[in-house]
Amino acid sequence: MPTPAFFELVKQILSKPVTNLFPSKYAPASIKKFLKKGKINPPIKTPDKFRGKLIYEKDKCIGCGMCVRVCPSSAMELVGEPPKRKIKHYVSRCTFCAICTEVCPVKCLHMSDEFLLADFDKHSENLIVG
Ligand code: SF4
Ligand code: SF4
Repeated sequence: MPTPAFFELVKQILSKPVTNLFPSKYAPASIKKFLKKGKINPPIKTPDKFRGKLIYEKDKCIGCGMCVRVCPSSAMELVGEPPKRKIKHYVSRCTFCAICTEVCPVKCLHMSDEFLLADFDKHSENLIVG
């Protein structure tokens, strides 16, 4: 006579995984075709006010350096001399606290909903903004 544990095991084997698989941005085409066919779960929808990769509106930036001063993880760097001074943002150091977006006097920093940020090189174009 099968035990309740056996029935639970069969139920688990036949049901879909409860975890959401995480397809990589750099997944090979052979993996992406499974995503299209619905065999791999797409990333979940991000909630409102999600704090993802920073968006930097370089043209609006006045180079005041406030974001550099408040950043707790030294993820911002001032580059160039006034009046053309701008910033460089290192995504790999960012803790996504959003303090910089609050202090920026011209509101040129915003949190996006982009979270597919895995990379082999922390200095890749994908991980340096500005
Ligand atoms: S979100 Fe926080 S950690 Fe990231 S750059 Fe802005 S202040 Fe620094
Ligand atoms: S706080 Fe805003 S305006 Fe000032 S340097 Fe940073 S991004 Fe530019």
